[in-house]
Amino acid sequence: MMQRSELIRWLLESNESDLETLWKRADEVRRRSVGDAVHLRGLIEISNYCIRECHYCGLRVNNMAITRYRMTDEEVLSCARQAKQFGYGTVVLQSGEDPQMTLDWIASLIRQIKTETHLAVTLSLGERSMEELDAWRNAGADRYLLRFETSNPVLFSRIHPPKKGSSHPNDRVDLLKQLHRFGYEVGSGVMVGIPGQTYSDLANDLELFRELDLDMIGLGPYLPHPETPLGKTALEVSPGHHEQSGGQPNEPPMEHEHGQVPASELMTYKMLALTRMVCPKANIPSTTALATMNLAQGRELGLQRGANIVMPNLTPSKYRIHYEIYPSKACIRETADQCHTCMNTRIRSIGRSVGTGPGHARSNMQQNEPADD
Ligand code: SAH
Repeated sequence: MMQRSELIRWLLESNESDLETLWKRADEVRRRSVGDAVHLRGLIEISNYCIRECHYCGLRVNNMAITRYRMTDEEVLSCARQAKQFGYGTVVLQSGEDPQMTLDWIASLIRQIKTETHLAVTLSLGERSMEELDAWRNAGADRYLLRFETSNPVLFSRIHPPKKGSSHPNDRVDLLKQLHRFGYEVGSGVMVGIPGQTYSDLANDLELFRELDLDMIGLGPYLPHPETPLGKTALEVSPGHHEQSGGQPNEPPMEHEHGQVPASELMTYKMLALTRMVCPKANIPSTTALATMNLAQGRELGLQRGANIVMPNLTPSKYRIHYEIYPSKACIRETADQCHTCMNTRIRSIGRSVGTGPGHARSNMQQNEPADD
């Protein structure tokens, strides 16, 4: 099992041939633990309304510059039918935190999708009440995705203010444990390179992935959005904060356990590879945020450095352009058909196969022994 000191050492590693070793090891653990199949999860961005004020996200309530939409159930169902036609095993319903999507509406949507398509249903609808989460599980939802964003509670509170008037603690980790109890397969993850995030924080994130025994882990670089408080400061203070230490005179040097993590493509690969080593059996997507940083190769490199999932976008084009959690999102001008063809081509180009079936965590390779590291 990788010790914390080793995790930190890899996160700070810059020697290219040593990093090649890390990529190879992660790819080997991926192959032995979950196999060569890449599972496809069709993503449906059902609403971009949001009542929260997250300092990083373009959907935040205070962003007046975006056009808000909410899909109808017939529209969502038609996307789910398309997922079925494309041979996907899962649909992921994602949105801002939108109270107009009521307990009953979502529950009925889940039932209709399950009855008609028998696809696995994953929800990613933000921090909802215990009553709602329990009811949606009972309606047939299989999985829930909720990134804890960072394991550093001080940083999390700074970028993720609690719900207005809420008496609940601002704690996604606690919510993830509840989701487990309700019987969901649970997914979480973090952003890499949040202003104020250190290498030590990333090592803690990896240890928390292990401790929470997650079924799915999503990772992407933090991408500044100009209509958000965090994006505004980053862009004003230091346009090059991706590459440099942030320019604060008293900040420790970057290549140091307590230095600022860059929101870089390389750092995202390091986190992907280490996540695979720490949680060999987890489902790990090669994310759109990573593809946004490297349109030509990001998806493929993610799949070759630990990932085994991709999430082709099924959201109708007229809505998709408005689901702008960060700017210049990859695939934002494509249709579902184009995404489907593109993902299939990319998967085959690196010698991997497209998964069939729902691709539930831990059952991907039941015939194999668990990985030994
Ligand atoms: N409202 C849901 C879904 C949010 S979008 C929720 O909060 O869970 C899904 C993920 O996008 C978030 O969890 C976050 O990790 C990521 N994200 C949001 N803003 C981002 C940004 N500016 N850069 C990179 N990733 C971002």
